[in-house]
Parts: sequence; structure tokens; C-alpha cells
Amino acid sequence: MSFADLGLSPELLQSVTAAGYTEPTPIQAQAIPSVLMMRDLIGIAQTGTGKTASFVLPMIDVLAHGRRRALMPRSLILEPTRELAAQVAENFEKYGVNHDLKMALLIGGVQMGDQVKALGEGVDVLIATPGRLMDLFERGKILLTGCNLLVIDEADRMLDMGFIPDIETICSKLPATRQTLLFSATMPAPIKKLADKFLTNPKYIEVARPASNNEQIAQHKVRVTARAKRELLRSLLRSEDVSTAIIFCNRKTTVRELAKSLKGSGFAAGEIHGDMDQPSRLAELDRFKAGTINLLVASDVAARGLDIKGVSHIFNFDTPWHPDDYVHRIGRTGRAGATGRAFTFITPDDAEAIASIEKLTGTVIPEVTIEGGAAEDAPRREPRKRPERPVREASAPREARPPREASPPREARPPREASPPREEHTAARESHPPRQHQPRRTAPAPRPEAESDGWNGPVPDFLGFSAAG
Ligand code: ADP
Ligand code: MG
Repeated sequence: MSFADLGLSPELLQSVTAAGYTEPTPIQAQAIPSVLMMRDLIGIAQTGTGKTASFVLPMIDVLAHGRRRALMPRSLILEPTRELAAQVAENFEKYGVNHDLKMALLIGGVQMGDQVKALGEGVDVLIATPGRLMDLFERGKILLTGCNLLVIDEADRMLDMGFIPDIETICSKLPATRQTLLFSATMPAPIKKLADKFLTNPKYIEVARPASNNEQIAQHKVRVTARAKRELLRSLLRSEDVSTAIIFCNRKTTVRELAKSLKGSGFAAGEIHGDMDQPSRLAELDRFKAGTINLLVASDVAARGLDIKGVSHIFNFDTPWHPDDYVHRIGRTGRAGATGRAFTFITPDDAEAIASIEKLTGTVIPEVTIEGGAAEDAPRREPRKRPERPVREASAPREARPPREASPPREARPPREASPPREEHTAARESHPPRQHQPRRTAPAPRPEAESDGWNGPVPDFLGFSAAG
């Protein structure tokens, strides 16, 4: 199967070849012809399977004909986060080089003026986060009545972030006869409901998940006490062959403090979390991609879905509280055929969290002990008797003990990280409701694992040969 078999135009095939893709991924092969035929579509495939190009490519051809009109975008792509929106925009730029298409990016945290100006001149593609779009719509700066093509991307993530009511509102502003595409890694009930309501006779494509865990990611768990985590991390960073790593923490404060402490220890570390404004997040990401820094300390919200190539290691400095976050985190490594290693730090408090991760992924993550700074496989049947013993770097003289990680007692667990405050009156919209007790926003969002889903994680086999990396 080649891209040429899918019905795309020669101009488009040219830019696909220029981008280095030789073969469509399974979701692309199945989705592209349907989109070209203007059908509604539900595309379910795990993270990293190339869902973006499965709508961007045919959209470019679909939009190649027709006229732009002021304030009336011809198509709309909804993305849950600014980073994902920016990534989709990059895709349009890359594949659309041979087409005369105008695009506008409507995301929080950047000046609205230019965005409004672009809209005024007429755009073919509008890529937006729901909050910012609603904002502009309510101010009368945009008309959605000319928008005949809607893409709801990363729908499960939208659900997690409480965006479903906004999406429903947006759908009701679009023309009733339109093409609607919905993409998601999983299909929890509220997403199914949304699809039933707003899609017409959609073609349903689901790319099978690998039966077992992703073999391109070597996963480990390491027992440690909260106060010994930093030392353990430094030790692993020195002993492991770390070229680039993302280090995940559960709290923004931990992200900040850890990044600072790593820099203090001489590591080239940066940080990305929801309290940073958009330009600094993108700047930090660029520094990471460019190799100016090789360690990125991150929170889940800021990092989910980001396509960062060639990350050799993932460190879960904190065991994630939600098992699907684990899947998304380790999915940042082992992408596009490369192998990666993931280390998850578990404290005695994390017993329950790690158990649900292992249940979701259907594997027992091998435990390693860190002796003399090197990871060794621990004998499976001999769990450490004294897990509270801090792990030490045998080689280095013991430095002053790092300050205690601020880890509040369990009951005091804060809500999940909120995205950065948006400007003015809509500040609340993009904030992340705590998952357990969601406020008025939406029907209670069941965790995806309550549905059919097992593994929605990383990298399929096909990327092993089709991707240049
Ligand atoms: P998803 O939205 O499914 O998580 P993305 O669209 O972000 O996945 O794509 C994941 C990675 O796969 C990106 O780096 C992208 O460039 C790459 N990719 C997409 N399609 C192909 C292809 N046909 N061949 C090789 N790599 C691809
Ligand atoms: Mg995607």
C-alpha cells in the first residue's frame, strides 16, 4: 500500500514524499479514502499511529477548491491543547506547501489580535482549542456558518479536560450538513454519545491494539522513598546512557523544584508545566528539540500528545495517579521504531497506583534495584524487604541530603494540574477539573479503563520499518 493508492492529488503526494513518508500507517490507509469521499468518520487508534496526517492530508485536497470568505472559516479542527494545535498547524504547513491554503491558529496564551486579523482575511483551516474559540465566538468575531468540515481530534483527551460541553455548543453553531471527523485513542461512553449526536452515518475505523505491551519500551520500576528520589534520579541519569529524557512529575511545584535542582547539579534540564505561558512553553520545547537541553521535566497536561522524537528515557519521578497517564507518558519514548527505557519511581504510597497501572497494561513491570548507580534486574520473587531504605550512589560521596520533596499526605492530594490561566473572563474554562468530583461542567467522565479499552499506548510495529525516525 502506498500513498499514491489512496486517491490523493499529485501535488500532495509530492509534499508527502518530501516529508519523508514512504507508506501510510494503517489508520491513514483506511481513513484517507473515506475523508476524500466526504464521509463522516470515527478513527480510533492509539497514540503515535499517525492520526494527524489521516485528516490533514485529505483535507488539503478537499479544501483545494473553493473560496475563502472573511470571518467564515471553511473548516475547523479542534484540539485539546495549544501544543497539539500547534503540531497540527505544522503538519498543514509541511504538507500544504504546494497548495494555496490559509490557516489560522486560535489558541490561548498568544495575542488575539493577529488571530482575529487572519480570520478577517478569510481562512480555509481554523485550528483551535475549544476555550479560545468559544471566547471569540461569543464576542462575535467569528462565524461558523460557512464551516463545512469539522475535526474533533484527541476526543478522549477533550473529555478528560472537560471540553465536551464546549464541543457540543460549537457543533450546534456549524451548518447541519457538514462533514465531521472524530479521532481518539479510546472510545469511552461520553465520546460515543457525542459521536452519535453529531456525526451522520460515520465510517468506523479502529486500528487493533497490539495484544501485548510495547516491546520497544523496556519498562522498570524502582522502589524508593520520597526523600531519596532526587538522588536516585541523578544516579540513573549518570549511569544510564541517557541521550534525552523526559522526567514526569505529578505536581507543577515538583516540576519546578526538580528542574531547579537538576540544573544546580549541572544537568542540562528544562521544564514544561501548565503555569508557564505559551511562548515560554514553546521556547522550552524548542530548546529540548534542538538539543540545547537534554532533560525536560514535565507535567502530564503540558506533555501529553507531544511528538518529540528520539527520547531515550522516560522517568516517572512520581508514579502517575491515573494509569492512562502512565501509558501516555511512556509513549513519549520508543516512538517511530526507536527503543526506549522507562523508569517508574514507586514509594510505599504508590502501591495502589502501580497496581492499577499493571492491571491496565496487563503486565507486571519488572522491578530493578539500583546498586552502585547501575540498574540491575531484581530477582522477581524477592521483593526488597526494606523499601524505605534510600537508594544510594555508591561511588559518589554523599552530598547534603536533598530537601524533602513536598509531598502532601494522600488525603490532601490536590486536583490535577490546571492549565495556565487564560486571559480575562474565561480563565476557568481551560482549567482542569479534578477527575473524581467534576464540577458542573459535564456528565461525569468515566475513566477510559471503565470501557473496553486495555492498551491505548505507544508505538505500533509498522513504525519500525516505515519511519526514518
Ligand atoms: P497520533 O495523533 O496518532 O498520536 P501523530 O499524527 O502525532 O500520531 O503521528 C505520530 C508520529 O508518526 C509523528 O512523528 C509523525 O510524523 C509520524 N508519522 C505519521 N505518519 C507517518 C507515516 N506514514 N510514516 C512514517 N511516520 C509517520
Ligand atoms: Mg494526535
